[in-house]
Amino acid sequence: MTYDELVAVRRDLHRHAEPAFLEIRTSTIVVTWLRALGIEPRTGRDAMRTGAVSDYPSVDQRDRFAARAVAAGADAALAEFAAAHGTAVVCEIEGDLPGPTWALRFDMDALPLTESDEPAHVPAAAGFRCADGFMHACGHDGHTAIGLALAERLVADRGFAGRVRLLFQPAEEGGRGAASMLAAGAVDGVDRFVALHLGLDLPTGVVAGGVEGMLATTKLRATFTGAAAHAALSPQEGRNALLGAASAALAVMALPRYSTADTRINVGTLRAGDNVNIVPSWAEMTLEARSTDSAVCEDLTERIETRLHGAAAMHDLRLELHRTGGSTTMRCDRPLVDAVGRVAAELLGDSAAPALWRMNGSDDASLFARAVQQNGGMATYAVVGADHRAPHHHPSFDIDESAMAVALEVLDELIRIPHPGDSHRLGSPPRGSRADLSTEPG
Ligand SMILES: [Zn+2]
Ligand SMILES: [Zn+2]
Repeated sequence: MTYDELVAVRRDLHRHAEPAFLEIRTSTIVVTWLRALGIEPRTGRDAMRTGAVSDYPSVDQRDRFAARAVAAGADAALAEFAAAHGTAVVCEIEGDLPGPTWALRFDMDALPLTESDEPAHVPAAAGFRCADGFMHACGHDGHTAIGLALAERLVADRGFAGRVRLLFQPAEEGGRGAASMLAAGAVDGVDRFVALHLGLDLPTGVVAGGVEGMLATTKLRATFTGAAAHAALSPQEGRNALLGAASAALAVMALPRYSTADTRINVGTLRAGDNVNIVPSWAEMTLEARSTDSAVCEDLTERIETRLHGAAAMHDLRLELHRTGGSTTMRCDRPLVDAVGRVAAELLGDSAAPALWRMNGSDDASLFARAVQQNGGMATYAVVGADHRAPHHHPSFDIDESAMAVALEVLDELIRIPHPGDSHRLGSPPRGSRADLSTEPG
């Protein structure tokens, strides 16, 4: 894959952005690409367990996205399969020498967000803006493209020790996809886990080998059900779900800060009621808690749940409460952090990157990392700098595409360099043959 092809793959994914668990076209592209490389990937139940997902998209939603995918050129049989059995894709590429099992995570999902159509927004100007209300506003289009390019390289040159498992993950946003893949054994037997993110306010040409401060999080959906009534003739007969939800929102936001850890709370959506002259019989709210400490996040979540139940009781409402997603804090293992740093320094010269980049967000890659570490393996979360003129999750977000080439080189090299403790140490192969991606865009 040349640099231009890498960019083209990313732009194609960008244009056809798909939200959590509906990455159907993306999944078919990944499967088709891997098969063309001679790899038979694990898909469906072998890659993720949809039963482990709360609030999984309905059959209707999945069918609609499958049709959208096929209309945009996806293989119909593969799209139907992904719609029925899940979008995750896992493959494993064997190196020529015995060695550790690596797992690399590439998230595939976009956000339900209307993308900017201003001329200054490159995807709009260059014709790869997503037109129908979804948007790759976090760079996961780039991640997926990097994963595909890396698969090609590893297959073309198996001069590395061990094996590399590539995890193409659905639904990172909302912290929902990793758990479903863990349930299918995604990191069983893994010695080294690496997740990578582009951007995160780190400039192009700078790479951090790990992160600190990643927040544990819980995502919740609360549905309040009351009783409708005529707002003038019989308001006393109504049970007002809107008021219950509004009380809950205020009570949740009024929870105290913790002296022991950083916390965040957000009530993200609140919808209620049917008409101006009807006592609102229903309300639905989504909200989240986060903390730099997993135990505090859990405590905060329980307090939120108490407030939700209390507000429901106060207005005589029925409450249905679901934890729809979540992830934990992340501890990056120093040997892996340093290895990424060494590779990056060789590639980019001595950059000003701190070893650990402060990440004030969450990523459910932390669940993969935690599972690997609990089995005695190591994990890190590398950040590859990519200039972006608007923040992540903003309608004008766009990544500097040249960072994808950097990320690809870093991962490829990371797999191939000798690591402390390896029984089989390989020298770095000559890199001259890989020059095709070092060219900057014209
Ligand atoms: Zn994001
Ligand atoms: Zn992201």
